[in-house]
Amino acid sequence: FDDRDGWIWLDGQFVPWREAKVHVLTHALHYASAVFEGERMYNGTIFELTAHTERLFKSAEILDFKIPFTVAEIDEACKATCAKNGFTDCYLRPIAWRGTEQIGVSAQQTKIHVAIAVWSWPDYFPAEQKRKGIRLTHALYKRPSPETAPTASKAVGLYMICTISKHAAERDGYADALMLDWRGYIAESTGANIFLIRDGVIHTPTPDCFLDGITRRTVIRLAREKGFEVVERHIPGEELGTFSEVFLVGTAAEVTPVSEIGEHRYQPGNISLALMDDYAKLVRGELVNA
Ligand code: PMP
Repeated sequence: FDDRDGWIWLDGQFVPWREAKVHVLTHALHYASAVFEGERMYNGTIFELTAHTERLFKSAEILDFKIPFTVAEIDEACKATCAKNGFTDCYLRPIAWRGTEQIGVSAQQTKIHVAIAVWSWPDYFPAEQKRKGIRLTHALYKRPSPETAPTASKAVGLYMICTISKHAAERDGYADALMLDWRGYIAESTGANIFLIRDGVIHTPTPDCFLDGITRRTVIRLAREKGFEVVERHIPGEELGTFSEVFLVGTAAEVTPVSEIGEHRYQPGNISLALMDDYAKLVRGELVNA
């Protein structure tokens, strides 16, 4: 992914894509002192830009470091990076991390770096699978308790269990894996939040040990505007067999129906497909209220 044309915003300047490098003694590489975001630009507008930038700053604060820019500066840098690379529709990846000035668990003196890369990433899951629903298996790992890890931060270290779980799922022919939390409640997939439907009511897990996604909040609002009841609660894994429709939501995944979780089967139905279409319209500024 490093050998391509383009520009990456790095600490306030544009650097040619191939030259945007870090040293091997970067603290973040050794101790996971890094936080990131995932955003999308549609038709020239970054969806919920400031909410993402504010989350980046909050994630850094939780990891005990301060980003040396303002939220407004990072917002502008995100827009400028899309423009510099000639994109109107793309995925954006801001990331902030501790540098090389100190190596060891303590890293108070390290410089904080920020980079923003953008690329075309139309489909997180293969497009042909998306409408008929993707297949999930059970993840190898559980989401940790907030007493065990900084779960409200979009911290890179929290993704280690996601990568291992996703690899295992892919090796078995699945698109992704469902993660329960440490209590056995349904949490999310390795990179998106989850919604489950039963008798016309939409259920979604309470985000008390995983990311309260910006897409999740958007979809809850869209669903309520359409008149659906949305219940946020702790959902025991044992209930997986009681739902008729399931879908994932996230910036990269957008709204993606699920056809299978382990031994359970679901049909992408009217509610999933309606919210999938509404979300696609909303992010493109095409949602007209009926
Ligand atoms: N959970 C995880 C683990 C994620 O990586 C993401 C994507 N950032 C989400 C949920 C969804 O968050 P958002 O809707 O803000 O992209």
